[in-house]
Amino acid sequence: MVSENQLRKYAKLAVKMGVNVQKGQLLVISADVRDHEFVALCVEEAYKAGAGQVYVNWSSEHDALCNYQYMTKEALSDIPQWKYDQRKYAQDKGGCFLNVMSSTPGLLKGIDSEKIMAAQLAASKMFMPLQSYTMNNEGQWSIVALPSSGWAKKVFPDLSEEEGIAKLWEAILMSVRVSEDNDPIAEWEHHNEQVLHYSKVLNEQNFKALHFKNKLGTDLTVELVKNHVWAGGCEKAGNGAIFNPNMPTEENFCMPAKYGTNGRVVATKPLSYQGTLIDGFVLEFKDGKVVNYHAEKEMQALKNLVEFDEGSSYLGEVALISYDSPINNTGILFYNTLFDENASCHLALGRAYPMNVKGGTEMTEEQLKEAGANFSMTHVDFMFGSSDMHVEGIKEDGSTVTVFEAGNFVI
Ligand code: ZN
Ligand code: ZN
Repeated sequence: MVSENQLRKYAKLAVKMGVNVQKGQLLVISADVRDHEFVALCVEEAYKAGAGQVYVNWSSEHDALCNYQYMTKEALSDIPQWKYDQRKYAQDKGGCFLNVMSSTPGLLKGIDSEKIMAAQLAASKMFMPLQSYTMNNEGQWSIVALPSSGWAKKVFPDLSEEEGIAKLWEAILMSVRVSEDNDPIAEWEHHNEQVLHYSKVLNEQNFKALHFKNKLGTDLTVELVKNHVWAGGCEKAGNGAIFNPNMPTEENFCMPAKYGTNGRVVATKPLSYQGTLIDGFVLEFKDGKVVNYHAEKEMQALKNLVEFDEGSSYLGEVALISYDSPINNTGILFYNTLFDENASCHLALGRAYPMNVKGGTEMTEEQLKEAGANFSMTHVDFMFGSSDMHVEGIKEDGSTVTVFEAGNFVI
């Protein structure tokens, strides 16, 4: 089980390396009530780091599930204005946001998908005007994860609750580089340098497109936007603070040209979406758009995702991660995107990150669209990396450079 020393180190890491709260800044922590012990340490460490105000936005998975069971579709779609105001207040004050996540994969299994869809659409619509604050890295934000019994049970169905949680703790702490006697902050600085190195090399290559191929049947060409920027690891917020949006993170990611993806991609891990687990799925693209798709499990949820809005049938992100990544090497399927996406090459349906094109964070929506960026109210990653993944980078003049061989970076 996690020691108090490790828990505090993790809290300090989340506050200093994750959101990197600045002197006098407002920090908003969102967490489930079951994680109060960790949150209490985050609050302390945030004030020690100089935070001006710390507010905690508590939620409860149990209550959320009850709401889905008992509320009508209309009631679920009626999102109180004060929730919007609360978020806007914090953003207007230049606050930073830490999300502590411990959700149970597949929590909403069995709930009417129309209800889930309606609630999600209502929330996306309402919060849309506030989305750019984090999408454009105007303010710092970060997501960290804690184990929960529901999550542990899904990942380790054969272990007792206690053993499962202990094993999940072990995997999480390894992934975020916290051990009993190390300096996690120094390790993160070193790790970020490595991630930045690949971004630098990929930016220098300035590929026109990437071609992915493996034995499972993936044969996909993803064109990148002109003047694209590979990013990954830490980011810089509008106030100059360097922060890590995802802990863990292993990815280098870029912006696909909205109408430039063609071919077929076979997913290699189940996707946790709207409380369900979509599994065994294939997508086919033509000129950027998903024109055909199929899932062995939860086809309806995949349909909801692809048809969520106009932009959710186009790509907003392509990310490269070596198959030999520390997270993948745990051999654990986490059923959680924060971990699984960092174990595998992935694509995202939906909105693109403006930072992935030169000058993008300063562009208007029209200019971004002109540059080839996809827009959507959603952004959902799915994994397709494999041990035999071959990636060829195609240059403007048609020449090629091998980027991945047998699942790993070779540039
Ligand atoms: Zn990603
Ligand atoms: Zn993503």
